Amino acid sequence: MTKYIVVVGGVISGVGKGVATASMGKMLQKHGFSVTALKIDPYLNCDAGTMRPTEHGEVWVTDNGGEIDQDLGNYERFLGIGIPKENNITSGQIYKTLIDKERKGDFLGETVQAIPHVPDEIKRRVKVASKDFDIAMIEIGGTVGDYENIPFLNAMSSLEKDIGKENIIYVLVSYLPVPSHIEEMKTKPTQLAIRMLREAGIRPDLVFCRGQTTLDAIRKKKISDYSNLNPEDVISMPDVIGKGTANTLYVIPLNLDEENLDLKVLEKLHLMPKTKPDWSEWRDLVNKITNPKDQVKIAMVGKYLNVGKFTLKDSYYSISQALQHAGAHLNVGVDIEWVDAKTFDENDLKEYDGILIPGGFGSSGVEGKIRAIQVARENNIPFLGLCYGMQLALIEYARNVCGLQFANTMEVNNKTPYPIIDILDSQKEVTEKGGTMRLGAYAAILNPSSKTFQLYKETGRLETDKQQVLELKEEFRLGKLESENVILERHRHRYEVNPKFIPNLVQKGICFSGHHIREDGTKLMEFIELPDHKFFMATQAHPEFKSRLSDPAPLFLGFIRACNEKN
Ligand code: GLN
Repeated sequence: MTKYIVVVGGVISGVGKGVATASMGKMLQKHGFSVTALKIDPYLNCDAGTMRPTEHGEVWVTDNGGEIDQDLGNYERFLGIGIPKENNITSGQIYKTLIDKERKGDFLGETVQAIPHVPDEIKRRVKVASKDFDIAMIEIGGTVGDYENIPFLNAMSSLEKDIGKENIIYVLVSYLPVPSHIEEMKTKPTQLAIRMLREAGIRPDLVFCRGQTTLDAIRKKKISDYSNLNPEDVISMPDVIGKGTANTLYVIPLNLDEENLDLKVLEKLHLMPKTKPDWSEWRDLVNKITNPKDQVKIAMVGKYLNVGKFTLKDSYYSISQALQHAGAHLNVGVDIEWVDAKTFDENDLKEYDGILIPGGFGSSGVEGKIRAIQVARENNIPFLGLCYGMQLALIEYARNVCGLQFANTMEVNNKTPYPIIDILDSQKEVTEKGGTMRLGAYAAILNPSSKTFQLYKETGRLETDKQQVLELKEEFRLGKLESENVILERHRHRYEVNPKFIPNLVQKGICFSGHHIREDGTKLMEFIELPDHKFFMATQAHPEFKSRLSDPAPLFLGFIRACNEKN
């Protein structure tokens, strides 16, 4: 039977509940248990796909085409498993299912109510997502006391009633502020969060105390007295201290392990450890991040949105993680500088070891990104382009090498004489925005004489296990697989390389190093590279979504290695 760990937040959001959930999951996995993780988002959107980055940070894309909360990315990165879109449950999905069912008449005359129908649908989804695992981590978004959290907390108490207290525990991740005028860590907000959780019928089994510094014995006692918990179940979780590139979240499972949290959790769940955890590889990679031999400086040229006084870098979160993973393997610290596409200075840009253009939408910042690509290409500076980054690299090449003045993407200028990037045929009929892009895993066939192929081969990413690919094909509309050199990457786009311009681009030196073949036999370009450049590679895909600490994404590995080759 699956055991559950429910993680809720107290006091404020954004204190690292997702990372705490992922880290706990990793610890239990190291003890030999199969672990999955679910995120509950109490908002009414059906998924995160239609939210702007300033609302929600990055949109995470799953193999099966989900556009979901970025916490699911941390679960995948820590647990090293693919997590399907069904593991992200929102209020919107729950109500939509119930209302659709009601309209069909499936409730056979019943009154459809907040209780029991809402918690029943929540529990049904939780059980489906968890059924093949020993342990399921369930993180409830937002903060205890939020109005919209109530149905989910209620569903968790109801789950407890169904399966018994020995099979479910609750973790409150709280925050202890240190107001600057008194310079003292305050426990009161945490006490109130515990009280509110109790009012929802839940008593926490563990309280994680996030804060700038560690929790001292006096405050630990205060919280344990207030919540009737043993002091050892009140866990101190201070900020991870590490300057610049030495700052890494992957140290957190190691810290929690030192607190023997793994054994406490197993005991509370009435589980015996299966294997002795081996953290040696993980620790070695963390050490390489915190204490790297070499250092590179990367310019990430994007459109940076200001939210009040703060700049939002969260929308490129997976990319910064993927750079860190690649750096860890190469023993290189990766210093990412966020360069605003609208305001940068070209001479400053030449000082970087590498230039990265991330994905994006719309016309804002596009001309700046194209200029940045030109700087990289003409000065032999390593360049990595992701999704929009690949499309814009081809536009730059068309304009400046093929002489096609005013070449553009139809997304920015639908009157361009040279639409190098055109809308996908399948997108022409699309009217609704939610979940309608070309989403999720698709296969690409790599050209065996390309650098792209070499990198995928070196990192063991070629899909050699035919049976597994065929199974995935059933599920994921991968396209035709007519070659040995197949790889799978995730996607999120509406536009593609216009086939009409391919011969011209190839003649002028672009190598299309990988393509997808649709069921109707037409091709879609997935990878490009410039053979004579130090490193000039780009892809229509988002390889950052499949990068893990212990399994870096091929193009990121190649990119950082090239950036570190000082010449
Ligand atoms: N805007 C481009 C498209 O829709 C690229 C999308 C992206 O970078 N994710 O094709």
